[in-house]
Amino acid sequence: MSMFATVLANLFAAGRTRAPDDQPPVPPALRGHLAHDPSLCTGCGTCAHVCAPKAIVMTGTADRDLAWTWFSGACSYCGLCRIWCPTRAIDLLDEVPDTAERGGEMRLADPVVRHACSRCGRPHTPLAVEIQAEMLGGPLAGTALDEKDLCEDCRRRMSSERIRDAFMGPTPKPAPRSFARTVATEKVTS
Ligand code: SF4
Ligand code: SF4
Repeated sequence: MSMFATVLANLFAAGRTRAPDDQPPVPPALRGHLAHDPSLCTGCGTCAHVCAPKAIVMTGTADRDLAWTWFSGACSYCGLCRIWCPTRAIDLLDEVPDTAERGGEMRLADPVVRHACSRCGRPHTPLAVEIQAEMLGGPLAGTALDEKDLCEDCRRRMSSERIRDAFMGPTPKPAPRSFARTVATEKVTS
């Protein structure tokens, strides 16, 4: 096509600029806006470990509440955190991230609440009951229900004690302890 024809074609072609409300459809497999569900998060740190650009940061200590934070500016939306999170607490939604429109960085911050182990009192974050039930293939009952709030060390001890009791008879057990505290979760998006 000659240059003259090209100029004429462009002159009479429809405009290409999209209005804000006239955006192309989002592809169905888009790895977009990252979402984190603190009620499913145990603070294991796997997501922060696999995140190459360090977009997820975990702060805090073993005996205090942890803070799970995601920085959109560092995220490459690779999806590894969603793949490796053992509790499915992370998802990448098929929505365009807010930052694409806002042009700035967004921070998603969630506390990961520590509870006292119901046997030894050590602070930990138990696996969500629905995940425990899913792993066991049905609603928690019996021993599984009694031990749903145990820390991993006490779970091992209880398992050993059950085997020992089976051979040597019942032994005295420490009295169960109630949760020392819970902290309200609050999602902060800025
Ligand atoms: S999607 Fe990738 S880059 Fe973004 S937080 Fe997850 S692991 Fe990190
Ligand atoms: S979001 Fe998943 S991988 Fe990350 S700390 Fe929580 S449970 Fe672990």
